[in-house]
Amino acid sequence: MTFDHVQHFIRKIAPLANLSAAEIKLLETPIHIHKAELTVNGKKYPAYRVQFNNSRGPYKGGIRFHPEVDEDEVKSLAFWMSLKTAVADIPLGGGKGGITVDPKSLSEKEMQELSRAYVRAFADHLGSKIDIPAPDVYTNGQIMAWMLDEYEKKVGHHDPGMITGKPLELGGSLVRDIATALGGVYVLEEAIKKLKLKGKSVVIQGFGNAGMNVAKLLSDRGFSIIAVSDSKGGIYAQQGLPVDEVVTIKEKTGSVQNYHSGKKISNEELLTLTCDILIPSALSSVITEKNADKINARIILELANGPTTPTADEILHRKKILVLPDILANAGGVTVSYFEWVQNRTNYYWTAQEVETRLKEKMVTAFHKVWDSFRDRQYDFRTATYIHALHKILTTEKIRGRI
Ligand code: NAD
Repeated sequence: MTFDHVQHFIRKIAPLANLSAAEIKLLETPIHIHKAELTVNGKKYPAYRVQFNNSRGPYKGGIRFHPEVDEDEVKSLAFWMSLKTAVADIPLGGGKGGITVDPKSLSEKEMQELSRAYVRAFADHLGSKIDIPAPDVYTNGQIMAWMLDEYEKKVGHHDPGMITGKPLELGGSLVRDIATALGGVYVLEEAIKKLKLKGKSVVIQGFGNAGMNVAKLLSDRGFSIIAVSDSKGGIYAQQGLPVDEVVTIKEKTGSVQNYHSGKKISNEELLTLTCDILIPSALSSVITEKNADKINARIILELANGPTTPTADEILHRKKILVLPDILANAGGVTVSYFEWVQNRTNYYWTAQEVETRLKEKMVTAFHKVWDSFRDRQYDFRTATYIHALHKILTTEKIRGRI
């Protein structure tokens, strides 16, 4: 996803959302783009923190370590975070960070040094009331712990709410590990009620944090997981797969394809299997104009970010497939990050049950808010979700007098 796509998207949606020229300009302009060059063992790494919009609260968004990270990508991701926090109705804005690095080329010591260098470079722009990072691609709880430590050294006091996705010992939240999948399940359950869908067959692409957890949660709720996949390929069993056994095989051998029973299939075949619910939980742009016509699902739950291309989206809409878009479907992660921040700031920690109850309330409410605006069906559910988010941002911008 490039920033050209973001601008194209805003301009496409502008007439449907009745956006003025000033509103369009505001929506496509990030508030700050911070850049730095980090040095570790003599090597230099470009680093970014883009603060896109903070009209609804402090900037919020992950930090990505990846060789393809650049300013354009970080800017686009920061824009989508502004929409995601608006849809989830949490009092936070949108930001994103990244370092252009192949993390596999670094030792653990270098990784720690790079994480600390990132915080030293951007510390003045971070903080629990300013901008709150979190993990993203190739960053994790350990990296958040090093970053928190470096930040607290610099400011000279505790501020665990300056970053989320931390280990529990440093103020992380219970349920954060399964939050994206669980949030998706809550949204899916509401959509199923609306469509009065009786079938319960599920196909899942990707078997990592999002995919594996959604498989477990749905299987526990009586759904039949008929196919799953990872980067090596997939397995399929019409009668349903025993999810616990597949999880064990994945953990022991590294791939779901080593499960002894079921038919081996490719990731392309998996996407076109006949099922009730299809859950892309791996990469972006996997449902395209090439395969959208062959998709045989009633509902698509986008746990991955950006799995459907705009052209594919139009085909799916014509086929009357309900797409629950990423900024709603996978907002459970950032919602529990918000809960982590609340717990850090009040210094009072919730039980897993409390987190789950509050997550459910947030996700169900978010789904119905969008569904209600979608009822007249002039456009698809994704467009309704985007318009809802953009209007929320513009409302606070107007109340503040910024436009
Ligand atoms: P992960 O690294 O834990 O898992 C990714 C999975 O995708 C792995 O099982 C991997 O084998 C599989 N995969 C990689 N290449 C593949 C391919 N070509 N075909 C099929 N599968 C392939 O990542 P994750 O945290 O589960 O994230 C997955 C998606 O969900 C990403 O798009 C991410 O941006 C999105 N997401 C995750 C979270 C979260 O909290 N984890 C939150 C919001 C969005």
